[in-house]
Amino acid sequence: MSSQLTRPETSARRWVAVIHPAAPAKPALGTPCNGCGLCCLAEPCPVGMVVSRKRRGACAALRWVEASTAARPEGGAGAYRCGLIVAPQEQLPHWIQHQTPALARLLAAGLRRLAGRFISAGSGCDADLVVEPATPAGQATGSPAEPSR
Ligand code: SF4
Ligand code: SF4
Repeated sequence: MSSQLTRPETSARRWVAVIHPAAPAKPALGTPCNGCGLCCLAEPCPVGMVVSRKRRGACAALRWVEASTAARPEGGAGAYRCGLIVAPQEQLPHWIQHQTPALARLLAAGLRRLAGRFISAGSGCDADLVVEPATPAGQATGSPAEPSR
């Protein structure tokens, strides 16, 4: 499923994001985050820019988490989650994961703590995005697309 995203204050910038068909709709600004994932599909946060090594497009750390998996012990429907929180070890280089597992566990715990502090996990939705269904032309581009400038 594709949707077109814009920021009201910079309407010249538009994104086309490929979204999981079961993702919840974006809630209103300031209301509790429901894991719709649109903010992280539009562009990485500062920590995500480091992890993704890019400033535009979907964050490489973003994960779709199915309902009632180990990463979602609270149950409920499927949702997007920050990979730095739910699977920080996966963000580390493979050689660290395989050759120094104890170090990997330490680094993963630190990464999770750091990410939780940076992204204000658990606070309300702060993504001022307008979401519209993507046009057929937008869907054909293969997305997430870089925003037009
Ligand atoms: S902060 Fe808002 S846009 Fe981002 S995942 Fe949560 S509800 Fe969706
Ligand atoms: S909150 Fe996590 S998934 Fe979202 S952009 Fe930041 S690092 Fe990436």
